[in-house]
This record gives sequence, C-alpha cells and structure tokens, in this order.
Amino acid sequence: MAGQYSENIKEIFEDFFFIQRGFLNGNHFVYRGDPPILIDTGYLGDLEETASLITGLDVDLAHTSLIINTHCHCDHIGANRYIQDISGCETALHHIGKHFIDTRDAWSTWSRYYNQEAEFFRATYGLEDGETLDIGPYRFEVLYTPGHSADGIVLYNRRQKILLSSDALWENDVAVITERVEGSRALFSLIESIKRLQDLDVRMVYPGHGRPFNDFKGALEKSLDKIRKYLWDREKLGDDQLKKILVYTLLMRRKIREDELFEELMNSHWYPESVDFYFQGEYERKFTQVIGELLGKKVIYKKRDLLYPAVRA
Ligand SMILES: [Zn+2]
Repeated sequence: MAGQYSENIKEIFEDFFFIQRGFLNGNHFVYRGDPPILIDTGYLGDLEETASLITGLDVDLAHTSLIINTHCHCDHIGANRYIQDISGCETALHHIGKHFIDTRDAWSTWSRYYNQEAEFFRATYGLEDGETLDIGPYRFEVLYTPGHSADGIVLYNRRQKILLSSDALWENDVAVITERVEGSRALFSLIESIKRLQDLDVRMVYPGHGRPFNDFKGALEKSLDKIRKYLWDREKLGDDQLKKILVYTLLMRRKIREDELFEELMNSHWYPESVDFYFQGEYERKFTQVIGELLGKKVIYKKRDLLYPAVRA
C-alpha cells in the first residue's frame, strides 16, 4: 500500500514507517500500533510539520507510549517534549544520553554549543549496548556507536536485515564531528563504531539524514575513507564542521543578512572556538571563504543582502 503515502514516507514493515526529512530534521520512524511508538522526532522549529506527518499516518500522538531516540541532538529529539506533554509517554535513549538529559547538560547535547533550539524532556529509560527492543512485533538490537555523538546508537533488525543507522552511517558523507565537545578521540570512536557495523548482514539502511540505500558495504568503505582523511588533514575536518554547521544555522534561521550571521557566529560558543582550534583564529577570512564555497556549490543562495539555504530542512 506504499503508493498511498508521499514519496518521503516508506512502509518498511506492516505499520512501521520511515519518514525521510531533510538536513535540519533527522529522519524518523513511526510504528502505528496500539499503542504507537516513535523513533526520533525531528527539530523543534519544525514541530508542526513533524506532528502533521505522523498524524497523517493515522497515529494519534496523544496515544504515543514510547519515543526511542538514536541520540540526544536537537534534530532528533525536537518534538519529544511536546509529545510527552500530551501523551505522558516514556522515552528511551542510550544511558549516556539519558544522563545528559537528566542533568540538563545542554553542552553535551550540543544545543547550547551550537545555539540550537531544543527542549529538555523526561528521559525514563537508559538503553544498554546489546539490548533488544521490541517495537510491536519487530525486534531491534541496540548497538552503541559513538563518534558523532557520545550517546549514538543504531538499531538493527536481524530478521529482515534492516539497519536504522541514524548519524553513524550515511550513504555518501559523514555526520559532523565536534572534537571540542566529543573530545579528541571522536574520530577514533567513529572508526571503531563503523568497524563494528561491518560484521552485520544488512540488506537496507535507513539513515538519520538522506534517502535509504542498499550499498551498505560501499557506505562503510566511503565513511572509513573520509574519516581517515580527516584524521590526517585537520583543516579538512575543520572546514567540514564549519560548512555543515553554517548550513544548519541558515536552515534554523531560514534567512539572515550576511553581516548579522557573522555577528551571530562570533557571539556563539562554537564558531570562534572552532576557528581557533583549526584555523588560528582567522574568523573573518574563514567566514568569507566558507560562505563563498557554499554559494558556489549552490547549497545556499543570496537574494538582495539576505542569505538563504537551498537544501531541504
Ligand atoms: Zn546528530
């Protein structure tokens, strides 16, 4: 019955849906059971769209019994608080992420560091590596995959060989690495996480951002290759972080004047620190360079004196 849904929604198993979003909102999943269970909930700023996509599947959010989060970043937990308020649902995430939420640590969850919109919620269950989760009739294994996020997990359905890879594995890119928050071993952690995934038998991957893909081995190779390049080229790693977070910031702001954006970045925690860390404090030069590259690649565009994102939120 896949035809009745929009092209961004896919029924993976009966009543188990994948919803593909953009770059600002992580992809998420809906189990339309009685009661419904959700995996990840998008970005707070797009709460209305998230809610309407889920209710469009005939799911009453007020009946949600459980939200599982693949990690605690703002683009994956955005609607948690709202849905929990109206449903009283439980939430489950890796126990390290639960600790960040319990202690209201907005730095480790990135939101204060990157100036992102996010609301804390009640974390009720801390997941352990190797644990199994039954989502209706579908069984998933929890695999702990830190690197991008200290609390990152992926969910693996061994029977159908389906991997919900979140931000641990994308088709053609690697999710942003934040060494100043995740620590200097972040890239090594991600390599270990990806090597761990190599042993799985996977037919289809549903990532945290981007479309589903079946070339699992190819994606693992591409990721490892990219991470190794970052390890040996710190400027490449720094550039990647600046570019991704700049696009992210534009998506959050929707449009902004170039000078205002620069001022906002200079008042943030992440921007001056990252430019100090990778580029000896050349704040303006890096800003001009990265904006120029993003304009050249048409990832962002400029109309009058306003900058806009050209990628999907
Ligand atoms: Zn993330």
